[in-house]
Amino acid sequence: MDMQTSFLDRLFESGLLIDTSVDGLYGRSGQFEDVITAFERLIDKVGGADGAEAMRFPPGMNRAFFEKSGYMKSFPQLAGTVHSFCGSELDHVSLLQCMEVGEDWTKGQEATDIVLTPAACYPLYPTVAKRGNLPKTGGLFDLQSYCFRHEPSKDPARQQLFRMREYVCMGTEEHVTDFRQRWMDRGVEMMKQLGLEVVIDVANDPFFGRGGKMMVNNQRDQNLKFELLIPITSAAKPTACMSFNYHQDSFGLKWDLSLEDGSVAHTACVGFGLERIALALLHHHGLDTVEWPESVRKALWG
Ligand code: AMP
Ligand code: ZN
Repeated sequence: MDMQTSFLDRLFESGLLIDTSVDGLYGRSGQFEDVITAFERLIDKVGGADGAEAMRFPPGMNRAFFEKSGYMKSFPQLAGTVHSFCGSELDHVSLLQCMEVGEDWTKGQEATDIVLTPAACYPLYPTVAKRGNLPKTGGLFDLQSYCFRHEPSKDPARQQLFRMREYVCMGTEEHVTDFRQRWMDRGVEMMKQLGLEVVIDVANDPFFGRGGKMMVNNQRDQNLKFELLIPITSAAKPTACMSFNYHQDSFGLKWDLSLEDGSVAHTACVGFGLERIALALLHHHGLDTVEWPESVRKALWG
C-alpha cells in the first residue's frame, strides 16, 4: 500500500476524515475542525493588525464573473459548474426512467448562473472593481471559502472540496510584492512555531494543454508563484500548504481595478490550504491532538 492510501486509511479509521466513497470528498470530525479553527485563529493573530477587510463568499460564484476570469482558458480540467433540472413534466418522466434503468440522467441538466468557486479570491475582484478606484492605501482583503477542483485522488492532501484562507493585496507593484514577501516570512515563522519543517520554492499553476506549457514557463521565469512545502505523504515530493501569487497588473487590467491616481492596480494573493495544514500537523505530531508537543498545542490553543 502506498503512503497516500495508508495515511488516508488511518485518517478514516481514527474518524478524523469521514469516507463518502468519493475520492477527495470527505467529512471531517470535530477534532479535525478544531485544528482548522485554531490555525485560523493563529492566522488572525499574525495578520490581524494589518487591518484587512474581511469578506466571506459562499462556495459558488457568479458564472458570468467566472467566464470573464479566463479560468476555462487555463484550467478547464479543474472547473466545476452547477447544473439543474429545468425541464417539463414530460422531461421529468424521462429523467426518472433514465435513473430507474441506470442510464445517464444528467444530460438534460442545464447550466445555472452559479459555478463552484475555484479559489477564494475569484469572487473578490469584480466586487472591488464595482466600488470604483481604490483608496490611496490600496486594498487588503481577508477571505475564506470552500473551493472546488476536479482532481480526485487517494492522496488525502488532494481534495475536491477544501478550504482556502486568503489575503489579497491591491496597490502598486512595490506595495503588493512587499505584502507577498512579508507573508512568505510569516508563513515560515508560523510553521516553525508549529514544529513543521518547510521549504519555499518557486512553483506554477497546472495550466492545461500544450499552450499551458508556455504559461508555466512564463510564471516560473518571472517568479510569479511561490509555495511553502511541507512533507505529508512523501518526503521527496512535499505538499504545497501555502501559495504566494503575484499577478502583476493582469487582474487589475481584466477587472478594471484602478488606484487613486487612475493607474492600473497590481495584485497579489497569499493562500493557506487549511486541510493541508491540518493534515501536515496530524502527520507530523500524530493523530491525537492531545498528544501533540506542548509548544505546538500552546501556539494553537494558547
Ligand atoms: P493554489 O491556488 O493552487 O495556489 O491553491 C492555494 C492553496 O490551496 C495551495 O497552496 C494548497 O495549500 C491548497 N490547495 C490547492 N489545491 C488543493 C487540493 N486539491 N486539496 C487541498 N488543498 C489544496
Ligand atoms: Zn488568490
